[in-house]
Amino acid sequence: DTPILRKPDWIRVKAPTSAGYAETREIVKSKGLITVCEEAGCPNIGECWEKKHATMMIMGDVCTRACSFCNVSTGKPPAGLDADEPRRVGEAVAEMGLEHVVITSVDRDDLEDGGAMHFVHVINAIRAASPGTTIEILTPDFLRKDGWENRVIDARPDVFNHNLETVPRLYLSIRPGARYYHSLRLLQKVKDRDPSQFTKSGLMVGLGETKEEVMQVMDDMRSAGVDFLTIGQYLQPTRKHAAIDRFVTPEEFKALEEIARAKGFLMVSATPLTRSSYHAGEDFARMRAA
Ligand code: SF4
Ligand code: SF4
Repeated sequence: DTPILRKPDWIRVKAPTSAGYAETREIVKSKGLITVCEEAGCPNIGECWEKKHATMMIMGDVCTRACSFCNVSTGKPPAGLDADEPRRVGEAVAEMGLEHVVITSVDRDDLEDGGAMHFVHVINAIRAASPGTTIEILTPDFLRKDGWENRVIDARPDVFNHNLETVPRLYLSIRPGARYYHSLRLLQKVKDRDPSQFTKSGLMVGLGETKEEVMQVMDDMRSAGVDFLTIGQYLQPTRKHAAIDRFVTPEEFKALEEIARAKGFLMVSATPLTRSSYHAGEDFARMRAA
């Protein structure tokens, strides 16, 4: 166990007390859905849910991976998938009236297709229930899943997001079940197969990476054609999780954002509280209008 560092003043969050928050909570609960906002203990939940921005987490709440930064439970998930979940996700998106939705999942290494077809069914169900909503998916890496990711790409989400999370040197301790170059190749594959899809990836900082390493990852992402980048401060969910090396200052985030823009990303969000899905809809709308 490692001691939890005291949070600096710039990590301030809004308490979840609004009417919008309660309404979002009600829709999520009544549809029997799981959100990453709750599972990850996301600090932005008060602000996001007030605006009905909830990120649904599909395929259950037990993950077959054990990333040392992540608060989601790890273990052996119950067999199979909830075949009715796509329908309920579609309904929730329609009821919330979302212009943009972010769908993520746990990793399901136990499934032959890694859950690829479930993603496809969810995308199709959202399109049917709420045709005007733009869809962003934040997917597992489909490591050793034999090309199943192509089916997800072919379902044509508007934004295909897969997080590299950290610099390659830290993969073994932070993302032990994953492979840096495999994840990078997944992003490249999306762009090669369907250049009209926007690709997105994200990093956490404060885990012990250097600025030079972060800049190298940005270059790797750009060479794989990644369009959007998010960078946020890693916050340690519990004492059992990876320790925070340091709190990156807002000025350093600003500098990272400028570097990323100069490298050609179309959209960059880099602030202490940036998360993969934070302001995803607003950023996407702004980028499309530009
Ligand atoms: Fe949910 Fe993402 Fe907002 Fe966090 S930033 S509350 S995960 S939508
Ligand atoms: Fe958490 Fe995703 Fe890692 Fe699973 S694969 S432990 S959900 S970050």
